Amino acid sequence: RAKRSPQLQYCFFEDNMQEAFLSKYKIESELRHAIEHDEFVLHYQPIIDMQSKRVAGAEALIRWPQALTSKNPGVFIPVAEESGLIQAIGKWVLQQAFRDLQKRLKEVDFTYVSVNVSPCQLCESGFFSYVESLIKQYEVPASALVFEVTETALLSEDTVTLNTLNSLHDLGIRIALDDFGTGFSSISHLLSCPIDIVKIDKSIIQNITCPNSKHKNMLEGLTYLLSQLNISIIAEGIETQEQSALCQRLGIKLTQGFLYYRPASEVELQLLLNNTIEQ
Ligand code: C2E
Ligand code: MG
Ligand code: MG
Ligand code: MG
Repeated sequence: RAKRSPQLQYCFFEDNMQEAFLSKYKIESELRHAIEHDEFVLHYQPIIDMQSKRVAGAEALIRWPQALTSKNPGVFIPVAEESGLIQAIGKWVLQQAFRDLQKRLKEVDFTYVSVNVSPCQLCESGFFSYVESLIKQYEVPASALVFEVTETALLSEDTVTLNTLNSLHDLGIRIALDDFGTGFSSISHLLSCPIDIVKIDKSIIQNITCPNSKHKNMLEGLTYLLSQLNISIIAEGIETQEQSALCQRLGIKLTQGFLYYRPASEVELQLLLNNTIEQ
């Protein structure tokens, strides 16, 4: 029907646009309220060391329990980025992650926290000194911090971003390239930016155990390439025993996924820091 009537197709498209605009607008005003009323919570997903079978560290993931329009950070974080609200949210995430890490380091000495940092935070000139001030305030070692960045942050080759990444790296914070395999995945970024860790995206991991999997061959090749560059790998989104076993066979030392642990509250995380997994 839409084929016969261009008018109808146009209306349909316009309705969708309007809906998208309205929900974006709703999320944005809800986010402003959430920032003022301190509605965010930070959860942590354990990252597993496959040799010791223990929790090596944890990724901080924002949660918004009171959200009305969307609880999913995959939806509200992009809205926060577009509207500039990510600056305030990003600062809250960092402060909370530092506060929790300080507590955790009193219990165990091997742990670290991995924080997602948005491109808009990295290109802001005050970001580095903000991080430096948090390190002083909470007295946590830079070596207990990883910042996860996506390739979108590196694509523009913005000088502030590059300088910030280099300064953070010089301070001892490790830089992880997140969602590898979903965007441009340019090898040149691995050479031009101070990348310590590459996180292989779940969309690749979810295909590695299919018969004649090209994803598996690619992962095997990547593992070799990254080891030659002295970059560690984390396999993200492991959901099955088969995926876990294959990653181990390929020599991948760090993994993360629902098979081992889902993101959990700080209290729950503290309880499982000394656990070993069965895989
Ligand atoms: P990400 O950084 O790639 O985080 C991994 C996402 O995969 C998380 O979703 C996590 O819950 C999910 N995940 C982990 N293991 C599995 C698995 O085995 N299977 C499947 N299907 N999913 C798994 P989440 O928490 O919904 O976050 C989505 C995205 O939102 C994150 O992707 C990140 O890009 C962004 N995000 C989350 N928290 C923050 C934050 O504090 N700051 C910023 N800037 N972005 C954040
Ligand atoms: Mg991440
Ligand atoms: Mg990721
Ligand atoms: Mg992501």
